[in-house]
Amino acid sequence: MKILADYHNHTIFSCGGNDNRRHATGKVEDNVSAALEKGLDKIGISEHGFNHAFYGLSKENAKKERDEIDRLNKKYPQIEILMGMECNILDDSGRIDMPDDMKKHFDYVLAGYHFGSKPTSLKSLFHHIDNFITKGFFSKSYNTRSVVNAMKNNDLLYITHPGDKGRVDIEEIAKVAEQTGTGLEINGHHNRLSADMIRQIKHRDIKFFIGSDAHDPKNIANFDRAIAIAKEAQLDLNRIVNIKI
Ligand SMILES: [Zn+2]
Ligand SMILES: [Zn+2]
Repeated sequence: MKILADYHNHTIFSCGGNDNRRHATGKVEDNVSAALEKGLDKIGISEHGFNHAFYGLSKENAKKERDEIDRLNKKYPQIEILMGMECNILDDSGRIDMPDDMKKHFDYVLAGYHFGSKPTSLKSLFHHIDNFITKGFFSKSYNTRSVVNAMKNNDLLYITHPGDKGRVDIEEIAKVAEQTGTGLEINGHHNRLSADMIRQIKHRDIKFFIGSDAHDPKNIANFDRAIAIAKEAQLDLNRIVNIKI
């Protein structure tokens, strides 16, 4: 098996850009070096979005990171380095935290739901709390609508860790993923999609991706758990877009 690309990993730009070791530990060049060591053709860096309460890329750092990635593409012509973003799905309108004036800095966009995205209303605050405390006992249809509308209203490469932070109707999400051509991630860190979820949806023509979600360079392209999940679900590994069997 060859890993072609890892589109989901974080650097210290996800936590202010200082070497303060709080949320993610590597610099962009550290992640790129790790990707080179693992023989990848391509790496996409995807920091957390702008509207997270505790971490995430700042608009100022987005420009710095773009410059750094452009510099590293010249320094390392043997690998393609892309700049993505793991946007937050903000609420059930499907809005994500990618302002129009920032889109030009990014090569692709991922989106996922996170507890810590800033609430857009009392209702969204309620669902954050419910997802945090009960894994979404009262929020299944809200969470599903959030992901479905995010796919319908945005041009996304894929949805990160679907259903990891609150229950969802994965069959409904898969239906819209198929319609919109949006990928779904088997996350190497969070175990979502799970094997059960994959079994439920693999009859659909969906683009499956694996993302390492590395917060440390040593985990770049660590797809071991995700591959194990895919095998457990008896998914044909040829259907995973960013690996080659
Ligand atoms: Zn995430
Ligand atoms: Zn992530």
